[in-house]
Amino acid sequence: MNNLTLYNTLTRRFERIVSSGKRFGVYFCGPTVYNYAHIGNFRTYLIEDVLVRVLKLTGHRPFVVRNITDVDDKTIRDSQKAGEILSVFTKKYTDIFHGDCDRLNILRPDIEPRATEHISEQIAMIEALIGDGHAYESEGSVYFRVSSFEKYGRLSNVGERELRTQTSDSAGKQNMADEYDREDVSDFVLWKARKPEDGANFWKSSWGDGRPGWHIECSAMAIKYLGETVDLHAGGIDLCFPHHENEIAQSEAYTGKEFVRHWMHIAHLTVDGTKMSKSLGNMYTLHQIEEAGFSPDALRYCLISGHYRQPLNFTMNGLHAADNALKKLAKHGEILAEFFEDGEPACPENWSFFGEVYHALLNDLNVALCLGNLFKVLGDVNVNKLNADQKTALAREFFTIKYALGLRLELENVSVPTDVQELANRRWQAKVQKNYALADGLRQQVEAAGWFVNDTPNGFSIVKK
Ligand code: AMP
Ligand code: ZN
Repeated sequence: MNNLTLYNTLTRRFERIVSSGKRFGVYFCGPTVYNYAHIGNFRTYLIEDVLVRVLKLTGHRPFVVRNITDVDDKTIRDSQKAGEILSVFTKKYTDIFHGDCDRLNILRPDIEPRATEHISEQIAMIEALIGDGHAYESEGSVYFRVSSFEKYGRLSNVGERELRTQTSDSAGKQNMADEYDREDVSDFVLWKARKPEDGANFWKSSWGDGRPGWHIECSAMAIKYLGETVDLHAGGIDLCFPHHENEIAQSEAYTGKEFVRHWMHIAHLTVDGTKMSKSLGNMYTLHQIEEAGFSPDALRYCLISGHYRQPLNFTMNGLHAADNALKKLAKHGEILAEFFEDGEPACPENWSFFGEVYHALLNDLNVALCLGNLFKVLGDVNVNKLNADQKTALAREFFTIKYALGLRLELENVSVPTDVQELANRRWQAKVQKNYALADGLRQQVEAAGWFVNDTPNGFSIVKK
């Protein structure tokens, strides 16, 4: 019953997930922290979160690394526009991202490495690639020689001709930026020579001052924390090419081993049938959804409810429907809480009621089918006719599914105790006064009391852990 099967982008097959060691190494491409994450980003992080929960339930012991991209063209450009030093600017958006993730009940990764804290690892990797003829220096920048890696294109199925066109369009934007003199148009950058507009954001290397390219950071951090072969690597579908293709090339050229055993890609979220973009005014943040009167739980339900390999179209009507469905589930949860305490997940060995509901998750994480089955069983079962053991089983299974989906199912907002509110107020004051040590200490006290304090654009909010 605990066999988890997922579609592997690399092999284009459904494959049973098996651990290669004691723990199951997972790498998620994390946010670029130059602005608020939008609900499309959260679709990806939420699906990844459901995956982690299911891996835990199925006994795979996931060990999760999700990076923070805190240096690239956008972070540098926007920190300068804001007149802030890069680290201060990116910390602000990292904190906001963490707050959003907590409100959405996304489990924290085991390690969250920052690109700027791993420059030496990236430089070491680039040096080795040059030494082996996989990379070359040109005018202070370093490029990966794509022709030196025979398997290039296997993940995204990109052929040579497409490669040449794709690297010249917006898909290859990150790839193209700041490149002067490549041997071949498909070669991608590993190290970018310093430019005047980089300001103080550069590091020293044997090729001169500069900074790493975006792709190399994920390879260096994944290998550092998860070893040369990662069990599973995921991200949004837009990352399949060129980012993940480049990650494979540089990692496998470096180690000579298979980089990732299982690749998972999450299809995009569209809004009202169109791509999300600032200019169309249809790019929502979690904060905007909350201002419209919806809970993070409702957004979570809405964003996980479609199959992850199908694009999902977000509408306010869809969010209303999610909210209604969630309220029904919360009512069931309230009744079932009488028969089994909802706490740490206790996955049953044998399922009596929600076997098919759970099975849908094990079958390529089919949340849509899982939810459909869940409501069907809840509609069919007559709790009053069950004996005590059956009631316990029903409740235990229900709470296991609730855990897998990461839903909070709170009927009403729980009011914040005054002492916690007081600590959070003092923390905010300390933060405003730039007394970060005191602010961090107060945050820890809030957390020890069982609450999270999250910064929002207009102040802060407090949510139950
Ligand atoms: P970024 O911060 O731009 O690097 O993106 C963070 C994550 O969000 C990546 O895994 C992207 O693939 C994913 N992503 C970006 N846009 C969308 C979208 N519209 N729908 C789903 N995932 C997205
Ligand atoms: Zn990445």
